[in-house]
Amino acid sequence: MKHKYIFVVGGVMSGVGKGITTSSLGTIFEAQGYKVNIAKADPYLNVDAGTMNPTEHGEVFVLGSGLETDQDMGNYERFMNRDLSGEDYMTSGMVYKHVLDKERSLGYKGKCIDADTIRDEILYRYQDAARKKRSDITIIEIGGTVGDYQNVMFIEAARVLKLQHPDDVTFIMVSYMPIPSKLGEMKSKPTQNAIKQLQSYGVQAEFIIARSEVPLDQKRKEKIAFSCNVPMDHVISAPDIDSVYDVPLNFERDKTSELLSRALHLPKRKTDLSKWKRFVQKTKQTKKEVRIAVVGKYFSTGDFVLSDAYVSVIEAIKYSAYEKGAKPVLVWLHAGDFEGSPEKVLTSLKKHFADIDGILVPGGFGETGIEGKLNVIRYARERRIPYFGLCYGMQLLVIEFARNVAGLTHAHTAEIQPKASQKVIDIMEQQKIHLAEGRYGASMRLGSYKCVLKKGSVAARAYQADTVIERHRHRYEVNPDYIAPLTKAGLVFSGTSPDGHLMEIAELPGHDFFLGVQFHPEFLARPLRPHPLFTEFIAASLKRRG
Ligand code: GLN
Repeated sequence: MKHKYIFVVGGVMSGVGKGITTSSLGTIFEAQGYKVNIAKADPYLNVDAGTMNPTEHGEVFVLGSGLETDQDMGNYERFMNRDLSGEDYMTSGMVYKHVLDKERSLGYKGKCIDADTIRDEILYRYQDAARKKRSDITIIEIGGTVGDYQNVMFIEAARVLKLQHPDDVTFIMVSYMPIPSKLGEMKSKPTQNAIKQLQSYGVQAEFIIARSEVPLDQKRKEKIAFSCNVPMDHVISAPDIDSVYDVPLNFERDKTSELLSRALHLPKRKTDLSKWKRFVQKTKQTKKEVRIAVVGKYFSTGDFVLSDAYVSVIEAIKYSAYEKGAKPVLVWLHAGDFEGSPEKVLTSLKKHFADIDGILVPGGFGETGIEGKLNVIRYARERRIPYFGLCYGMQLLVIEFARNVAGLTHAHTAEIQPKASQKVIDIMEQQKIHLAEGRYGASMRLGSYKCVLKKGSVAARAYQADTVIERHRHRYEVNPDYIAPLTKAGLVFSGTSPDGHLMEIAELPGHDFFLGVQFHPEFLARPLRPHPLFTEFIAASLKRRG
């Protein structure tokens, strides 16, 4: 079989579900027995997503290889229940850097390089993952919206691929149909314009996924079909829905994959979405609630509150709650609300956590909100509220325990106080060199590392394993000098690197769930495979709820 390519581009505006469309198509084609690869082409000039502030760009998703990518990669992995690799992600920066580095080392053997060189490099990358993985279908999401000048090269390379393989490449535009409240009528003009713009690049979208608040009526379908030069049944209505996990099922109901297969000259295949359906059912049959507070700081952008920075954490909580038959209720709390005088803090803690079953502190960087988070962790420990600390949330658990239980009253992290007298969280030698040389990009401890679990611990019980592999993204670690006093005071390091030097999991025996992990378990939580530690945390939270 010849390899097939589906390009997904966005029309009108961003944030209307290109990523979910791409992921859902991946789910469907995999459920037909194809080997599918999903890739994202991001227009940013950043060489990877690692240096972008989460409030600007949302979560940084880390692949097993350690590549720091866009949150869409997380969606793809979750929907397909499969790890993706470095070849599945590119930014403009990555492409330009490669081309320029190659030019500097005479890699082009004296030839002139220009925009076409960039296009050809993108073209090569589109096909590289398919070649390496011997997959059947590659679905490529082009970031941004048609009409942006930033993503033009990605579209240009896709056009050439279509020219070279006319029967094996197709384009989908995910577009938006606004219903202005003053008019009360669905407007298709912006979509028509977006399609025309795409045509001006020499590309014809063969499918239009029309996102809107309500389903498309026949009249609108006809209008779009005629003006955008696509058959009527290639205009697919995608109204707003409650859960993104319904999308693969809705697409199947509308025979989307059948139509796509026809366009790509693929035979019709049966889709087995039974496992997915079972998961979706679980997301609906939930009567009892579990209330989880997430205490963080990356929530605000201008006047809006965004939880984009924590997508994987949110999803991981949801899967485990569904697994336990509960409806997850997430409460977002600003760490800054728990700072100030002890009386004020106590009043705030009592108020905010009165109806909370479990507390989670996710990963983070820098000083903002640190003391507030430490107050929350102390409260969770003393009031025996289940607490789950991810990465920074684990480092803070260790600091809190060191200060308030182990008598290390000056305990701190070198990240905030490089000169603290009791750096229970410190920087490793290699990291010191990176920082001294100003090398911030892709220089943290990144990607998959093995972790050995301590027999009889909460962690080992949850995982039901002796060793696990988890993904990392951090610079600082528990300082080996303080392991003895911390252990003596009762903290258990229930997961370590195989050589025993790096502390990967800390937990407190006797507490229902007071556990922190140096890694990011949220990156491995999947709808069809909830993460064992999240499930254990949710179980403890449900127990508290009673
Ligand atoms: N700031 C901490 C570190 O770099 C934790 C990072 C994180 O939470 N991802 O070690």
